[in-house]
Amino acid sequence: MNEIELKIIKEKALEDHIPIIMDDTLEVIDKILKETKPKAILEIGTAVGYSAMCFSRYLAEGGKIDTIEREHERVEEAKVNIQKVGVADKINILEGDAVEILPTLDKKYDVVFIDAAKGKYPFFLKESLRMLNKNGIIFADNILYKGYVMSDYNKHKQRTAVRNLREYIKEVTEDENCTTEILEVGDGLAISRF
Ligand code: SAM
Repeated sequence: MNEIELKIIKEKALEDHIPIIMDDTLEVIDKILKETKPKAILEIGTAVGYSAMCFSRYLAEGGKIDTIEREHERVEEAKVNIQKVGVADKINILEGDAVEILPTLDKKYDVVFIDAAKGKYPFFLKESLRMLNKNGIIFADNILYKGYVMSDYNKHKQRTAVRNLREYIKEVTEDENCTTEILEVGDGLAISRF
């Protein structure tokens, strides 16, 4: 894996204001992946491939990441990036809206990383649960959304996103089949272990 290329890609993404995973969030996930060594990861929200490339370090031998992105330009950039970093054999990019792609998938995953449209988190959760292996883990990034989710914030612009993030938290915290932690790293990270 070409670490220098990865660093350049990260810097370019930040310069281009592409919302990539924050360092403290990545640190938490890295630690868990290092211990669990997943064979199959599903990521919802590729952007330019940064988080997927980082996660690919911890895959078990022969392991793979499927990652979904709906913006064509980002998909193209991610494809170039994974080639440059030398991890194209580990990452499979699926282009399209995750709302349409997820129901067509029929695979099993050890880890799911949800990092796309906040208004769709409950749907992403439902689909992820359908495909999650026993002892699987679901990470949901941006779960606290600038603090709006835990406050009485109710402004119209982000109201749907906030309502759906709250719904996601409610579902995972009430689910008897899993334990969930909500960490105040980055923009908030939910870790649900099944
Ligand atoms: N995981 C990436 C990383 O850390 O390097 C960052 C992903 S970025 C926060 C979210 C991405 O999800 C954007 O590139 C956006 O275009 C994509 N996205 C948002 N909603 C989506 C959807 N419904 N289906 C597919 N992609 C979506």
